[in-house]
Amino acid sequence: MAESICPQCGKGIRASASFCPHCGVSLPFQPPRRVTYTPEHVQQLLASHAQWLRKETGGIKASFQSADFHGIDLNGANLEKADLEFADLSGAQLRGARLIGATLSNANLAGADLSGADLRSASLFGARLNGARLHGADAGYASFGGADLSDADMQNANLQGARFDYARMIGANLGGAKVFLRAFENTFRTEKDFHPMQKVSTYLIIAAVVVMVILALFGDAIFGG
Ligand SMILES: [Zn+2]
Repeated sequence: MAESICPQCGKGIRASASFCPHCGVSLPFQPPRRVTYTPEHVQQLLASHAQWLRKETGGIKASFQSADFHGIDLNGANLEKADLEFADLSGAQLRGARLIGATLSNANLAGADLSGADLRSASLFGARLNGARLHGADAGYASFGGADLSDADMQNANLQGARFDYARMIGANLGGAKVFLRAFENTFRTEKDFHPMQKVSTYLIIAAVVVMVILALFGDAIFGG
C-alpha cells in the first residue's frame, strides 16, 4: 500500500522504504544543490539550446538541473526537451513557454504561471504545481505522476492522454479541461482518498460484486443444480 511518493519516479512507495522498488533510488532522497545563473548566462544557454533544437553545429541542449529560477521571467521561452529536473521555478513566469518533452520531474513550479504553455509529453513526475496556473495549457500526454496539483488552475487545459497516478489534485480547477477518465486512476482528489483502507475496501466490494454476478449467472452450472 502506497504511503509516500518516490521523489525520483513519482510512484507510490512505503514511507519506511530505504530504496524505491520501482526505480531503485536510495531513500531518503537528497536533491542536488541549487545552481544559480545570471540572466545573461540564461539567455546564452537558451540561444545555444535553440541552435541545438535546429540541429546547428555548436548548439548545446539546455541542462538546468536544480537551477534556482524562482520568480524568473521565461514567458514564451523555447525550452523544448530541456532538462529542468529539480529546478526551483516557484513563481516563475512561463506563459506560452514551449516545454514540449521537457524534463520537469521534481521541479518546484508552485505558483508558477504556465498559462497557454505547451507541455505536451513533458515529464512532471513528483513536481510541485500547487497553485500553479495552467489555464489553457496543452499538457497532452504529459506525466504528472506523484505531482502536487493542489489548487492548480487547469481550466481549458488539454490533458488528453496525460497521466496523474498518485497526483494530488485537491482544489484543482479542471473546468473545461479535456481529459480521459483513465488518466485519473490512483489520484488523491479528496481528503478521504488518502485513507489507505478505503481503497482496500473498495477493491473487496468490487471483488464481492463480481463473485455474486458470476454465481447469479452460472451458479446452477457450477453447483450442478
Ligand atoms: Zn522510484
